[in-house]
Amino acid sequence: MSYAKGSKALGECDRCGFTYKLAELKYEVENETRNGLRVCDSCLDPDHPQFQLGRDVVADPEALFDPRPDQGNFTSLFTVAIHTQPIEGKIGNVKVVL
Ligand SMILES: [Zn+2]
Repeated sequence: MSYAKGSKALGECDRCGFTYKLAELKYEVENETRNGLRVCDSCLDPDHPQFQLGRDVVADPEALFDPRPDQGNFTSLFTVAIHTQPIEGKIGNVKVVL
């Protein structure tokens, strides 16, 4: 079935009712499907991404493959002590009276 080009045809916005050129009216899309409304630019609600939640499978794993956690051995404590810089600085003088 073929249709006329309709380059000068007018149409009403399905939401506000104002008249626009038919070619300027846009099909409104909801959940990636046309909902049947043909609306003007100011009435157009773009398709919200929250309608597509769960559609794309996104892997965001937290676990490491074949991990080697610290076992708390003496050598691991020594390794931490070597690579940790001590906190140094002068805060002030403290007078101790006995
Ligand atoms: Zn409108």
